[in-house]
Amino acid sequence: MKKLRIAIQKSGRLSEKSLDLLKEAGIRLNNGSRKLRSEAQTFPLEVIYLRDDDIPEYVQDGVAHIGIVGENEFVEKDCRVELTERLGYSRCRLSIAVPKTEEYGGVKDLEGKRIATSYPLILKKFLAKNGVKAQVHVISGSVELGPSLGIADAIFDIVSSGSTLISNGLKEVEVAMRSEAVIIANPDLDPEIRKILDDLLFRIRAVMAASTHKYILLNAPNDKLKDILALLPGMRSPTVLPLAEEGWSSVHSVLKEKTFWEVIDQLKESGAQGILVIPIEKMII
Ligand code: ATP
Ligand code: MG
Repeated sequence: MKKLRIAIQKSGRLSEKSLDLLKEAGIRLNNGSRKLRSEAQTFPLEVIYLRDDDIPEYVQDGVAHIGIVGENEFVEKDCRVELTERLGYSRCRLSIAVPKTEEYGGVKDLEGKRIATSYPLILKKFLAKNGVKAQVHVISGSVELGPSLGIADAIFDIVSSGSTLISNGLKEVEVAMRSEAVIIANPDLDPEIRKILDDLLFRIRAVMAASTHKYILLNAPNDKLKDILALLPGMRSPTVLPLAEEGWSSVHSVLKEKTFWEVIDQLKESGAQGILVIPIEKMII
């Protein structure tokens, strides 16, 4: 039987979460001692471990069928691959930063400046879109040192909390794109491999849905049921069961993490009691 070959970052910010995702999708890997390659035990999948920069090209060339990369690498490398699924982790943005002492009045202030980056393509597109001409200096690492070393006036790099910028005396002034981990795929997969990919995506979606939802149980006086049910759409509709005590019901449903506290407050106001919230392990929608 054929195997789906997935490329994952060998060591870096995407590695652990990507392997965790596979694990939660029920894929157990037998790790070789050198860990350049491993095979799944109960699923037709093989993992190869690469530098993230190389993954888009390997997927384009069919060396790997799919890969997990930051959306920033996907856009920067501009390879012939499909964006198949957004994974929601390793969120960051690609931003321009300037020395914090510098006055900044808008993107036009970058005209003629030297900007250091590891993402020249994304930066050049951003500058062109804004009608700004600047010099783009490609550096492969420690870009944030550029201004203090006197080799750049500004930088264009990944920002998440912004603490690296602050500790290098920089401030973020423009956001060019937002990024998260994504699955990319070779566009010409054979049907058997495509079927394995669909099975994998089905599992991954169940894991992702579970992580953004909670199971909720509560007790409701029957005369308040209508208001309470209106707050809880559930997957199809909530389950209502009678309690042993006359006039009360137990209500079970599923809640989105995002709206969670808002809904809990409204439920309490509507007379719900004994609210229990339970994590969901997998959710098949
Ligand atoms: P490699 O050695 O594989 O080339 P790298 O040093 O280029 O690794 P990492 O720093 O491990 O890359 O980052 C990998 C990806 O994780 C980035 O392309 C980006 O999508 C995301 N990322 C980077 N920094 C952060 C951050 N601070 N917070 C969240 N996500 C980030
Ligand atoms: Mg890299």
